[in-house]
Amino acid sequence: GKGLAVLTSGGDSQGMNAAVRSVVRMGIYLGCKVYFIREGYQGMVDGGDNIEEANWSSVSSIIHRGGTVIGSARCTDFMKREGRVKAAYNLVTRGITNLVVIGGDGSLTGANLFREEWAGLLDELLENNKITKDQREKYKFLHIAGMVGSIDNDFCGTDMTIGTDSALHRIIGAIDAIVSTAYSHQRTFIMEVMGRQCGYLALVAALAGEADQVFIPEDPVPNNWVEKLCKRLQQERKSGQRLNIIIVAEGAIDREGKPITAELVRKVVVDNLQQDTRITVLGHVQRGGSPSAFDRILGCRMGAEAVMALMEASPDTEPCVVSLDGNQAVRLPLMECVRRTKAVAQAMADKNWDLAVQLRGRS
Ligand code: ATP
Repeated sequence: GKGLAVLTSGGDSQGMNAAVRSVVRMGIYLGCKVYFIREGYQGMVDGGDNIEEANWSSVSSIIHRGGTVIGSARCTDFMKREGRVKAAYNLVTRGITNLVVIGGDGSLTGANLFREEWAGLLDELLENNKITKDQREKYKFLHIAGMVGSIDNDFCGTDMTIGTDSALHRIIGAIDAIVSTAYSHQRTFIMEVMGRQCGYLALVAALAGEADQVFIPEDPVPNNWVEKLCKRLQQERKSGQRLNIIIVAEGAIDREGKPITAELVRKVVVDNLQQDTRITVLGHVQRGGSPSAFDRILGCRMGAEAVMALMEASPDTEPCVVSLDGNQAVRLPLMECVRRTKAVAQAMADKNWDLAVQLRGRS
C-alpha cells in the first residue's frame, strides 16, 4: 500500500484528534500504510520513534480529547534546508509519499515548500549515498494535503477552522458563569478573549453572550469611543439591567492602532461611571477541554476528504487545503489560500481594515 503520514503543527486546537483519527482510519480503509509523525515537523526531522506506524485501534478513544495526542511543536530545524533534507530521508526510507499536515498558515507554507523542493532533496540524498537509485525513482513524487486547525477562524478559504466552535463553547460557558455573579453584585465585567488578528471569537461570543460592547481588531474604535461606551453602559443600567459585559479581543485597537486593552477599558469605566468593574482573561482555557460535536464532525469529514484527495492526486496535482464551504468539504489550492491569509495580515498591518475584511471573504 501507499505510505501516508499525518502530523499536527503550530498551535493546537480542539478537533485535531478527530482529524488525525479520520486520516488514519480512512488511510487504512483505502489500503495505505499509515504513520503518525509526533511533535510536528520536529518529529519528521528527528525521525526514530517520532514516526510510528498507526493501526485501527491506535486512534481509538481520542476523538473526545482536546489538543492533539500526537503532539505539536514549532520547529526551527524545518525552516532550514538541512532540516528538510533529514525530513525527506525519514519519509523516503519508510516509503511515505503522502503527507497530511494539520496546522496554520505557517505549517502549510512549510509543507508546500517541502513539496516544491522534494526532487532536489532526494537528489541530494542520492548524491550522498543515503538513498538508492531505486528509492529515488520509486518515491519521486510527494503529495500534500492540508487542514486548518486553529481556534481563531483566521484562515481564508474555509468557513470554519477546526477548533473555533469548541473555543466559542468555552467562551460562552465562561460568559454565562460571569453573568450570574455579575448580576448578584451589579458588576461590570470585561472579558479578554483570544484573537490577535481576527475578531471572530470576540464578535460571535458577544452576540451569543449578550454583551453590551465588543472591541475587535478589524473595527478600530473612533476617537469618541469612551463617551459612546459610557453612554451605552449607563443606558443599560438605567433601563434596569443589573450588569454589563464587555468583550475585548486581544488585538483590539483604536484608529491610530493603539491597543484597547481590558485594563484600559476597566479604567475608563471606573473613572467615568464608578462601576464595580472586574477583568477576566480567559487565556488558554479557550483552546482546552473537549471538542464540540461540530469540531469532531468537522475533523472527521476533513480528514477523510484529505486522504481521498491524496489518493486521487497525480504528479502535477497542486497541493490542496481541505475547507468547509457552506456545508461542503471542498479542496482548495493550498498556496492561494495561504497567500490570501497573509494578504489579510498585511492589510491589517497597513491599517487597511476594510480590505482585510473584504479579503477574508465569507465567515
Ligand atoms: P498558528 O496559526 O497556530 O501559529 P502556524 O502553522 O501558522 O500555526 P507557525 O509557527 O507559523 O504556526 O508554523 C509552524 C511551523 O511550521 C514552524 O515552526 C516551522 O517548523 C514550519 N514553518 C512555518 N513557516 C515555514 C516556512 N516558511 N518554511 C518552512 N517551514 C515553515
